[in-house]
Amino acid sequence: DLHSRFARSFEAFADRVLVEDGARRWTYREIEVEAGRLAGRLQALGVAPGERVLVQTDKNVETLLLYIATIRAGAIYLPLNIDYTESELTYFAADATPVLAVCRERSTELFARIGGGAMQVTTLERLFADLPEEGAAPVPRRSDDIAAILYTSGTTGKPKGAMLTQDNLASNGEMLIDFWRFTHEDRLIHALPIFHVHGLFVAVHCVLFSGASMVFLPRFESARVIELMADSTVLMGVPTFYTRLLADPGFTRETAADMRLFISGSAPLSADIHRAFEARCGHRVLERYGMTETGMLTSNPYEGERRAGYVGPPLPGVSLRIAEFETGKVLPRGEVGIVEVKGRNIFKGYWQMPEKTAAEFRGDGWFITGDMGVIDADGYVQLVGREKDLIISGGLNVYPAEVEALLDDRDDVAEAAVIGVPHPDFGEAVVAVVQPSGAFDPEAVREDLRKQLAAFKVPKAILTLDVLPRNTMGKIQKKLLRERFAGLFA
Ligand code: ATP
Ligand code: MG
Repeated sequence: DLHSRFARSFEAFADRVLVEDGARRWTYREIEVEAGRLAGRLQALGVAPGERVLVQTDKNVETLLLYIATIRAGAIYLPLNIDYTESELTYFAADATPVLAVCRERSTELFARIGGGAMQVTTLERLFADLPEEGAAPVPRRSDDIAAILYTSGTTGKPKGAMLTQDNLASNGEMLIDFWRFTHEDRLIHALPIFHVHGLFVAVHCVLFSGASMVFLPRFESARVIELMADSTVLMGVPTFYTRLLADPGFTRETAADMRLFISGSAPLSADIHRAFEARCGHRVLERYGMTETGMLTSNPYEGERRAGYVGPPLPGVSLRIAEFETGKVLPRGEVGIVEVKGRNIFKGYWQMPEKTAAEFRGDGWFITGDMGVIDADGYVQLVGREKDLIISGGLNVYPAEVEALLDDRDDVAEAAVIGVPHPDFGEAVVAVVQPSGAFDPEAVREDLRKQLAAFKVPKAILTLDVLPRNTMGKIQKKLLRERFAGLFA
């Protein structure tokens, strides 16, 4: 189980530093001892194996300890985005029925109200103020027991609670440390939130499983990240990290010289940024693709070509195919369809949503990711947009990524989002929403696009915004853009 995997590292790397924040460094042994005591505290509060522990706290080492302690106690870790509002929290608490909620002081009343007495509410401070001397023994779990429930980002609808098993998490982490060559000599710059798969499982498990160490930053700040590069080896980020590094003149070939790897995921990294990054510092970003429900699915190779605009071939142990969305008929290489996957890393189902779970799997067990993509002759996967973002204009399919790539490539465009909005003649019209960089003339851009794209793909309108709406993972909220511009052709 997952705890046994942690325990192997606690033993093998006991005196090495696992994590540091602004205030102090913690060795593997210190983390194990504290997590053991915290597990005892959780048990004293009545947290039994299989019960949910809801966590909405700031990013710090105490929260990391709470994750490790929850796993040690055999309970289910359920982290929530710090930005959720009262109505969202009410939904999550009612949906997940946790026995314990750990939150910030200012939210204790809110959680107490939501829980109505069935859920105990506490803070990290209160948990740590009263730790038992003796640590609790780890509670063994079976490989298909649930270790965590993580809610999806809610980019396309209401967030869904993905039930992730002990083996889902342990196997994906184990595979990634090999694939990305993590060793105890690595030091990761950890600037991601730890309530999502990316910052929690991909980042933390790569470090913990390999004996490496990490620096916890509360948030991404380019000056601080650049400073840390001098004695770090890996940065894991969302694409906005890379745009922000490029915008900082302090980021140079010299400052990045000691780094070994820059990884990007969670949202598409434009080919343009990929190339600009290499030109600036000499490193090719390694882009990978995954989701809450599946962990990591594809990755550009560590050695071998890291191709801009592609998410790479399927990772070891992952089977990936492209199918026709409506029928599930498998499509030949080179054709665009829905991405479907199988493997030890695929989740057990959506928490308390059996119909939703059934609907997202084919009869033969393939999970329907919701992403559209194509596999090229070399086996590299290219994503072309989500099925829900696919635009059907005049009966013809337009894949947003194709139009976005052309716009992103331009000097007068910082970033573009291409969406479909209702149109009386075409059903949907292609619309580009652009964050310009400098002077911007929409008509001139349309003129250029007409030379590059079939007429039906050329945006009927190009609108500009100072900033595109994004969530905490840097994903552009196309849902919001569609709502905002729904009346454009009405
Ligand atoms: P919801 O499922 O609630 O609508 P979400 O799909 O954004 O939200 P996550 O599980 O956090 O929730 O994100 C997974 C999705 O992120 C993938 O399905 C894919 O669309 C996108 N994604 C992840 N990595 C990449 C990448 N490298 N390039 C393009 N898209 C990516
Ligand atoms: Mg999703």
